[in-house]
Amino acid sequence: MRIAILSRNADLYSTRRLKEAAIECGHEVRIIDVLKCYMNINIQNPSIHVKGVELPPFDVVIPRIGASVTTYGTAVLRQFEMMGVYPLNESVAITRSRDKLRSLQLLSRKGIGLPVTGYANKPSDIPDLIDMVGGPPLVVKLLEGTQGIGVVMAETRKAAESVIEAFMGLKADIMVQEYISESGGADIRCLVIGDKVVAAMQRQAQPGEFRSNLHRGGTATLARLSPAERSTAVRAAKTMGLNVAGGDILRSNHGPLVMEVNSSPGLEGIETATGKDVAGNIIQFIEKNARQSRTKTRGQG
Ligand code: ADP
Ligand code: MG
Repeated sequence: MRIAILSRNADLYSTRRLKEAAIECGHEVRIIDVLKCYMNINIQNPSIHVKGVELPPFDVVIPRIGASVTTYGTAVLRQFEMMGVYPLNESVAITRSRDKLRSLQLLSRKGIGLPVTGYANKPSDIPDLIDMVGGPPLVVKLLEGTQGIGVVMAETRKAAESVIEAFMGLKADIMVQEYISESGGADIRCLVIGDKVVAAMQRQAQPGEFRSNLHRGGTATLARLSPAERSTAVRAAKTMGLNVAGGDILRSNHGPLVMEVNSSPGLEGIETATGKDVAGNIIQFIEKNARQSRTKTRGQG
């Protein structure tokens, strides 16, 4: 198959591994920087160009769209979808997963366990908002944050009020969440492909830090999942409409709680911690499932 990988940097571990795995299975691969793409939006003959040249036809597109280029990147991906190219993850699903609040609303509709979460925009509602999520300590999050940036813990009511007020004053979109203290600064990253968790790692935050992101100095080890955790991760990915996802789960006293579902999960940490060939599994999934025009939405919605 002719596979396009949408990535801004061919040297990134995940991009390299996907390319290697695809070539090993006899596929043709081209890495394309979404920001270099421009397109002709036209129903008869939608096309994508790079530096004056129209892209050749592809069978499959693997989106690895960074958070900072979500809007442009998903527009380019949508164009591939309109051209009938099979996307590993659809543009609509990626857009959903990039908004933490929208994701949680979709997940809660399916009865998936979540930390209690509140959302408001008026400073006068802050006291009630804090009570709604069970009072301090609590976590304040930017809706579009990533890699742990924009996630703040407030240990007292005073701190919570001033942090929320400050964010609101900056017109930042935030949500407020109960702090799951029993998880002890750890969470579980479940790498879901189709209807299976193919690899899972526990990430432990550095001492004195509650955010377990590897970018924040967290350390990763192989995790063994309970059946409930496994099915929660798979259901969360399915609810978002993602074929490949990194589902992040907190282990709470009342079972697994989903924090977020990532649409471009990094492969380095999880392959290193688990020894699994995640890139190879992704290519096998594509071989089984890719069909021309077999997107659910073809960029609609
Ligand atoms: P990001 O998208 O920036 O990774 P997350 O929502 O995943 O944001 O939060 C970053 C980290 O902070 C998580 O991996 C987890 O370790 C910690 N964390 C986030 N929310 C909670 C919570 N409600 N309770 C306990 N820890 C949390
Ligand atoms: Mg996260």
